[in-house]
Amino acid sequence: MRKKIVAGNWKMNLTLGQAEQLINDILQAGLRLKEGQEVVLATPFPYLLKAKSLLKNTPGFYLAAQNSASEKSGAYTGEVSAEMLSSIGVDYVILGHSERREYFQESNATLAKKIDLALANNIKPIFCCGEPLEIRKAEKQNEYVAKQLEESLYHLTEEQLKNIVIAYEPIWAIGTGLTASAAQAQDMHAFIRAQIAAKYGREAALNITILYGGSAKPSNAGELFACPDVDGGLIGGASLVAADFQAIISHL
Ligand code: PEP
Repeated sequence: MRKKIVAGNWKMNLTLGQAEQLINDILQAGLRLKEGQEVVLATPFPYLLKAKSLLKNTPGFYLAAQNSASEKSGAYTGEVSAEMLSSIGVDYVILGHSERREYFQESNATLAKKIDLALANNIKPIFCCGEPLEIRKAEKQNEYVAKQLEESLYHLTEEQLKNIVIAYEPIWAIGTGLTASAAQAQDMHAFIRAQIAAKYGREAALNITILYGGSAKPSNAGELFACPDVDGGLIGGASLVAADFQAIISHL
């Protein structure tokens, strides 16, 4: 049975005090996660250790970084390595977010290197893929996403793939208020699962968690998460409001 996950991507938001408050508010709700359900908090780097101590091994809650370096270690000023993240107990890392691809020129090949380093350090990548608006309008989204999967993931073994979470995030829906319809999300998720099945076999495809991301909120999470191939969400803006994030989690 594959995992169901709601992950909050805080991006470059909040002060330390606000971050502490948000985590405490989320935990205070006393959410009861069912078996196989996880909540992941992707905080900015400076708050990871604090977040770790606030989560205090709360069952079902995990910590993520929003990025990690494509090199192992050394003279890369400002970078944070997978090994460093592993040494402070980070569980997941978001890789390939469209903002990283666009503003920091991260290519599929660079992401393949980051994924390898994360896995080598026992950190599970949440690999983001998704098409820009012009590709969607040209109805070429399947080819676009297939290429992202192929160039960043398909060098992995079936064993390694077990530690990958995929997040489908249509770029035109991120932070825009536009959400993919449940049918659009389901179509793409089913397509991604079929691609994984073709490359790694049916069992690998059935076991891989595929999240939807893009203006998910309490009012649409229920419909999105009810889709058979949508296994939860990667949540940006709504993860910064405890009540909204809790409401989204309740739809898992
Ligand atoms: C994201 O940044 O991963 C995201 C899905 O953002 P939002 O929910 O704000 O669209």
